[in-house]
Amino acid sequence: MKKLIAALCSAAFLTLSLTSCGDAGTAPAPDFESPAYSETPAEPTPDGTIHAIRSPAATEAISPAADRLVPYDGIVEHLFFHTPIAYTEQAFDGDSQEEGFDMYMVTVEEYKKILQSLYDKDYIIVNMNDVWNEYADESGSPYMKRETLMIPEGKKPIIISFDDISYYEYMMDNGFPYRLIIGRDGDIWSYGKDPAGNEVISQDIDCVTILDKFVKDHPDFSLGGAKGLICLTGYNGILGYRTQTDSKDSSPEFEARRQSEIARVKPIVKRLKDTGWYFASHSWGHINLNTASFSKSKGDADRWMAEVGSLIGPTKLMVYPFGSRLDGDDVTKTGEAFRYYHSLGFRVFASVGVESYSKIKKEISAVICDRMHSDGVTLRHERNRYMKFYDAAEVWDDARPSGSSKYTRDW
Ligand SMILES: [Zn+2]
Repeated sequence: MKKLIAALCSAAFLTLSLTSCGDAGTAPAPDFESPAYSETPAEPTPDGTIHAIRSPAATEAISPAADRLVPYDGIVEHLFFHTPIAYTEQAFDGDSQEEGFDMYMVTVEEYKKILQSLYDKDYIIVNMNDVWNEYADESGSPYMKRETLMIPEGKKPIIISFDDISYYEYMMDNGFPYRLIIGRDGDIWSYGKDPAGNEVISQDIDCVTILDKFVKDHPDFSLGGAKGLICLTGYNGILGYRTQTDSKDSSPEFEARRQSEIARVKPIVKRLKDTGWYFASHSWGHINLNTASFSKSKGDADRWMAEVGSLIGPTKLMVYPFGSRLDGDDVTKTGEAFRYYHSLGFRVFASVGVESYSKIKKEISAVICDRMHSDGVTLRHERNRYMKFYDAAEVWDDARPSGSSKYTRDW
């Protein structure tokens, strides 16, 4: 286990505000119901797996069909991003949030170059759900198993995840889109305003739509259509829709508005899942699970299940806010809060580290792992470590701030 090198996510992510972003959306009315979260105890399936949440496309044709598939048991790299900065002139405007944006985000231009570099270095995106699955042993006891991946010869598997894809209210007019929407073509687009206040509907300024387009142009960058893992909190809703409850407002008007936001986001969730995206919990309140009491961890998990799990469906993936492991440490012990998350169906628990570490726990059926962070911190100070993915000097966006001791770089 390598020690964490950065506490992730600025405190600004904890800004709690219930102000709506106030713009009429363009998403069509929903015409389906998303599946309710099931708390039914797991039963082994005919092939022995339980809690087998797999990517639907992964069992279908793997592109390109002509490639020879070979077994892969090596390290599956895992790289994660926050929402990239679309308008650097807003994010890097010298205000109190500038330093956080510089540290924890890449810009859209950097993000595009990083995807191109990953592709050029023969990485292929895989779905994290296909890397680990739960089985039952002869006595019926569950355990997690690392699957042997079948990938095109010469390719290297990578999981890509995206934290806090909530289009938080603190990000409004700070250089980011406002939310995801579905266009008339049925595809995902982003909606927002440019710095001049013009409405912008685009597929070129958001992490989701940029990756969708990249995979469409380079189908051999994705195994079975796998895209990214979207890690969601709940306190500002999800995907730019204010679906959260408010303990201070139980008025019918608030609930009616919340229900209309839920109706608008459901087709977005469905479209994302249909096109290879999948979801993880990132806690409801972006709380520090390392230091939280059991009752706080449990209450937060219950609220996430009710307000986010109910919208995205079952997931076995938990991505720690700040990379902070449950109960102070889940590497050497399995605490009460870890067991509670386990009882909710979570099996893979991801933190942050200096390599794509993973470990199957022995005393409970679970996996703990680390992800590497693609952001300003590592662009500035970890060029060598990330060279296997991209060269910071080549992807660097000159729009990043400079001229202060806060904004040095090691190359
Ligand atoms: Zn976060």
